Amino acid sequence: MGKVVFLSIATNWAFNLLKPRKLPYNRSIRKEGIPASDFVCHREQCAPRCRLEAARVGIMGGTFNPIHVGHTEMAQEAYRTLGLREVLFIPVGTPPHKPGVFVASPQDRLEMVRLAVENDPHFTVNTMELQRKGYTYAVDTLHQLIADYPPGTEFYYILGGDAFLYLENWYRFEEAIGLCNYVVFERAGVEPRLVQELAQKLRDRYGARILLVDYEPTPVSSTLLRRCIQ
Ligand code: ATP
Repeated sequence: MGKVVFLSIATNWAFNLLKPRKLPYNRSIRKEGIPASDFVCHREQCAPRCRLEAARVGIMGGTFNPIHVGHTEMAQEAYRTLGLREVLFIPVGTPPHKPGVFVASPQDRLEMVRLAVENDPHFTVNTMELQRKGYTYAVDTLHQLIADYPPGTEFYYILGGDAFLYLENWYRFEEAIGLCNYVVFERAGVEPRLVQELAQKLRDRYGARILLVDYEPTPVSSTLLRRCIQ
């Protein structure tokens, strides 16, 4: 375990060296024609009050097998540009969509996430999916968060373009799409046009609240890191 964490951190460090540390403070979020004020609380009955007072909470879900700088960059960027109160890092328990891939134990993935985010006071690790038995689904997580947080809290689910293109395959997708806002980051190798087209389709069909972020995090992946440490 110690060796895996060390190698993961060392590889992230190497990637950091390759990339100029130009943090995108002034980078804008493309709202694709949707004004920020249209991002309303999922609880319609309290929308007028919530619009003024709602806390915005980011959700950074992932297998984190292992976590890497791409994940933390997305969370930082969303935190800054959306004025989030916090970003929850939620490691998936048993990922339903990665059959045949070696997945480190929940304890090891959790430990790596804790180490990666412990120095950022705005990042919180949430273990609700690890505690659930069997496959874990975002729709259940969203319902649980909505129940756990104060009424009116607005949730922003942070995704890379590759995961967004898979969104329609999520379990109870049509329910999940209405439960929160979706914040989609560019991802190396993913055609932005496909992301834009899907975003528009989901807005038209389901009234989905989708933000496309004009920012591509470091082109790293857990797959690449696993290969590096083999
Ligand atoms: P793997 O290579 O094993 O598929 P991954 O690097 O995609 O893993 P996950 O934990 O599956 O990592 O990703 C969690 C979320 O983070 C997903 O929404 C994914 O699209 C996004 N993501 C991860 N890395 C990046 C990156 N470099 N750029 C943009 N999005 C990313």
